[in-house]
Amino acid sequence: MANLRPGDDSSPESGLERRRRSWFRSIHDHDERYEIDEIVYRAKDGALLEVVHDLDALRELSPEEWKRKFVERSHSSQWPYGSGVWGKKEWVLPDLADENIVSMYEGNTNLFWAERYGRELGLDELWIKQCGNSHTGSFKDLGMTVLVSMVKEMIAGGKQIRAVACASTGDTSAALAAYAAAASIPAVVFLPRGKVSLAQLIQPVANGAIVFALDTDFDGCMEIVQQVAERDGIYLANSMNSLRIEGQKTVGIEIAQDFDWEMPDWMVIPGGNLGNVSALAKGIDMLLELGLAKKRPRIACAQAQSANPLYLSYQRGFEVFEPIHARPTLATAIQIGNPVSVEKAIDALRRYDGIVEQASEEELAQACARADRTGLFNCPHTGVALAAMEKLVSRGEIRRGDRVVVLSTAHGLKFIDFKVRYHEMRLEGIESQLPNPPIELPARYEDVRDRMLREIEQRFGR
Ligand SMILES: *Cc1c(COP(=O)(O)O)cnc(C)c1O
Repeated sequence: MANLRPGDDSSPESGLERRRRSWFRSIHDHDERYEIDEIVYRAKDGALLEVVHDLDALRELSPEEWKRKFVERSHSSQWPYGSGVWGKKEWVLPDLADENIVSMYEGNTNLFWAERYGRELGLDELWIKQCGNSHTGSFKDLGMTVLVSMVKEMIAGGKQIRAVACASTGDTSAALAAYAAAASIPAVVFLPRGKVSLAQLIQPVANGAIVFALDTDFDGCMEIVQQVAERDGIYLANSMNSLRIEGQKTVGIEIAQDFDWEMPDWMVIPGGNLGNVSALAKGIDMLLELGLAKKRPRIACAQAQSANPLYLSYQRGFEVFEPIHARPTLATAIQIGNPVSVEKAIDALRRYDGIVEQASEEELAQACARADRTGLFNCPHTGVALAAMEKLVSRGEIRRGDRVVVLSTAHGLKFIDFKVRYHEMRLEGIESQLPNPPIELPARYEDVRDRMLREIEQRFGR
């Protein structure tokens, strides 16, 4: 296959016309293009950019050859291909020099059959993709490895970049801080004060990022970071930057691979800034275009009712979209009223016969607890997806025999405060249905035994 690197002078198209295998283009005007190593986040009219790949170059391998290559590389120790993202390097950033890759072997997360939880809901084939079982505990690692690698290459190529920065609801900053630290690149993060979990706050602190806790919400932090990116030589790491989407899209490819290239019927994913739902669809687009999969799954995007601008737009057939003021939600990572990737997301949902569903605070908390009882340990955002999925099942939209994959976006251990309060019955306005507080007793055998036997009988009937 064509193996031309930037600067490879043996190419017949060398010099000014150096061949590139991927580039940016405006999502509005497909003729407005930028080089993949340019510092550019938006098109002239303000539209988002997207990374486009030379599909003809990728067709030089057959679908079967790609499948074999991807499977061989998964979990291998052949650097950097054991990473779920870089095992698909040719589909992600083909022209990046391997020496610039900043990877922590992200991706290749477990997809497992949630048999008991599915059975309790009346589903034969409920699967959970545990994207939070990752280096910093959320799917954000998938995109950040790509973005930070590109930054490393740009710096190596002489571009003036002082630092990388992001506004974050917690998980983006954790991922940026870790990957930037690994690459010795200064990182700056802007967090809404008091609106991220303690675990999420300590991650960038520990990794040595410059951490700002600002008296505003995520949307307010976003405005600040855009200003420093515009004026102060700071590189913007938010998902408006479409490099991140290229890494995140590998989750769709990975799910297909996990199922031996047979597409599920449904994928359910929580949405805040809406980069991830766009990315999921983009990965599947490539599988379909390059012949590795045939079936189109349906995608359901789940929003917290307190931050539901996409849901409201869906109710009106996506005819209009209006940003809202997002209200507080337990699902803090998706408390976003003005999602940057809304256009991409609506486009993606149209391609995949998409649905948008919402979940109230009560619904997400109970869904989390129900699923936790079957051995899971869910973050509140996954709870939003589970609650939405439960609604689609009870409405008959998702049917018993359908194969359903819920994308769990973060590790539950990052959000224990919410679980502690649930089990202590201290969540405001929510009546915990499955509280399970620890039983406090003096350490006397007879008392413990009596209580233990009573609990076993009451709870399990034996
Ligand atoms: C970022 C994030 C989301 C939302 O992803 P978007 O791309 O902003 O829609 C959902 N869950 C968790 C845990 C996240 O960190």
